Amino acid sequence: MYATDVADDLSEVLYTEAQIQARVKELAAQIDVDYAGKEPLLVGVLNGAVMVMADLFRELTIHAMMDWMAVSSYGSGTQSSGVVRILKDLSTDIVGRHVLVVEDIVDTGLTLTYLLENLASRNPASLKLAAMFRKPEANKVHIDMAYVGFDIPNKFVVGYGLDYDGRYRNLKDVAVLNPGVYA
Ligand code: 5GP
Repeated sequence: MYATDVADDLSEVLYTEAQIQARVKELAAQIDVDYAGKEPLLVGVLNGAVMVMADLFRELTIHAMMDWMAVSSYGSGTQSSGVVRILKDLSTDIVGRHVLVVEDIVDTGLTLTYLLENLASRNPASLKLAAMFRKPEANKVHIDMAYVGFDIPNKFVVGYGLDYDGRYRNLKDVAVLNPGVYA
């Protein structure tokens, strides 16, 4: 699905599919260099990170593995609740592994703070974060974000895995959702 298919629901396209893909390639090239010889484990956060994980993972030229976690975040609203629950845990033992968490977007960072603390307690060799999008609020969080795709304004966006009430994940572009859709 492209922005033109749901134009009435969107107020502004922030990044097109082509721009997103170009940026993903750049991030992958950096990860290739940083993790050479380390065979990192990329941990995706379901469901939002599905698209960025699939694209980023395929661009890597080094050996890497993949695992997934699911945590509860927004429910069906557009505000972060701060309530985090693990709905699905890793299948992999991460002791001594180089773990790179792959996130769709970091807003308040509440979800991530919890997740990183939880993963750190399992004694990985290293623990870093890659996020496709970062909102201004995220700068207040003292998390070292090793890889960031784009800094975006403090607006509710959809597309490239990001949903509103389950919809728009299949939108190839990333766009600001027209507030009329959730008003
Ligand atoms: P945080 O805990 O950093 O505030 O939010 C983390 C999660 O909230 C993200 O992984 C994502 O699922 C959701 N989220 C935050 N901002 C947005 C947004 O602008 N659009 C959508 N669709 N989800 C968002």
